[in-house]
Amino acid sequence: MPRAILEIDMPDNCLKCTISDFEMSGSSENLFCPVLSIEIENFIERHKDCPLKEVKSE
Ligand code: SF4
Repeated sequence: MPRAILEIDMPDNCLKCTISDFEMSGSSENLFCPVLSIEIENFIERHKDCPLKEVKSE
């Protein structure tokens, strides 16, 4: 199958990531990464398993 790349600005942390989103969990709203399918608890840096790869600009 052909592959594709979605180019976005590299976020410093998951909170600033274009892909992340807040979702309701019970009575609270939690930050969720749809790529990793996990709830994000650390807003200070990207998750250790973040799949984003930096693109070097020329
Ligand atoms: S793990 Fe990576 S892709 Fe997922 S929300 Fe965090 S920065 Fe975005």
